[in-house]
Amino acid sequence: MSDYYAVLGVPRGATQDEIKKAYRKNALKYHPDKNAGDQQAEKKFKEISEAYEILSDDKKRQIYDQYGAEALKGGMGGGAGGHGGFSSMEEALHTFMNAFGGGGGGGGGSIFDSFFGQEHGEDAGYRQGASKKMNLTLSFEEAMKGVEKEASLSNYVSCETCDGSGAASASSIKNCTRCHGTGQIHQTRGFFSMTSACPQCYGKGKMITKPCATCQGEGRTKQKQRVTIKVPAGVDTGMRLRMSGYGDAGEGGGEPGDLYVFISVEPHSVFLRDGDDIILELPITFTEAALGCKKELPTPLGGSCRITITEGTQSGKVLRVKEEGAPNVHGRGRGDMLIKISIETPVSLTDKQKDLLKAFSELEGEHNSPRKRSFFDKVKSFFTA
Ligand SMILES: [Zn+2]
Ligand SMILES: [Zn+2]
Repeated sequence: MSDYYAVLGVPRGATQDEIKKAYRKNALKYHPDKNAGDQQAEKKFKEISEAYEILSDDKKRQIYDQYGAEALKGGMGGGAGGHGGFSSMEEALHTFMNAFGGGGGGGGGSIFDSFFGQEHGEDAGYRQGASKKMNLTLSFEEAMKGVEKEASLSNYVSCETCDGSGAASASSIKNCTRCHGTGQIHQTRGFFSMTSACPQCYGKGKMITKPCATCQGEGRTKQKQRVTIKVPAGVDTGMRLRMSGYGDAGEGGGEPGDLYVFISVEPHSVFLRDGDDIILELPITFTEAALGCKKELPTPLGGSCRITITEGTQSGKVLRVKEEGAPNVHGRGRGDMLIKISIETPVSLTDKQKDLLKAFSELEGEHNSPRKRSFFDKVKSFFTA
């Protein structure tokens, strides 16, 4: 027979507070709801509950200290075959409830709240599955045209063997003995009467007597899943796609989580994205700018367009080609393509080219460079002042 003090990990002279503390800590650790289907944990939970039941009662503790566990057997309603101790999980769970919810124990409420509150929320037992996050990098072209991508996920899915119930068979789902299937318990504390989710079944109203062997009672199993991500045309870096229901399966009939796909788009060598507009910087020679020219340019969606650069075009001028930009991701048409003119000063000139340019500069007049003239007109005022 195990030593009750050793089971709880407290010294023989432990105070009631220490015993309670030790029990709570162990009980949370081995609680069947946290260890679904784990026979060892179940045994341990019964053991510590039994130890606590005795040691938390001064009378029983005294008898135990003097005569050992055997002396208490009769009173404990020992199980079949004379093994003694807690024969059923119900008794153990009852002890658990008393230790946590039971009247006025200093600080009891807070542990109760944090345990049940965090683990199970207000709608006890129905937990939404976890949502997942994944990053998806696309080429510029894929982002422009939209694309379908296959991804492999390791998700919890509803267990096929038990159809998500967690029970070995329909007959191993029973009405909860504590709340009689209502999922709620009524407690009176002083003047207050409170209704709360049943702590034994966590508000489900049902208990599983024999867990499903495939999922160990969890109702879900981990599985590799392939999912097709439909990326709409026009996505951009920083956008997020939400794929409803592609996260982990929920627990106890809870909703599945979602899959969030975070998009990043590789930069393109010539096209620059600006919202739904696409900017293209076009280098031209100064003679092209001066004399005017026509250019055939690629468009972001793989087509082409012709543009006319008029005589005397200045560097920095922006030509707008309507609706040749990125498709709006919400289907609201397309942005424009903005062509930004950049005039390149010629380099590596031959002697002949230099001579021609010198001859040209001799013919150059003020009227050929209106911006330059206006600039120096403005500057002149500083010098003469
Ligand atoms: Zn199952
Ligand atoms: Zn219940």
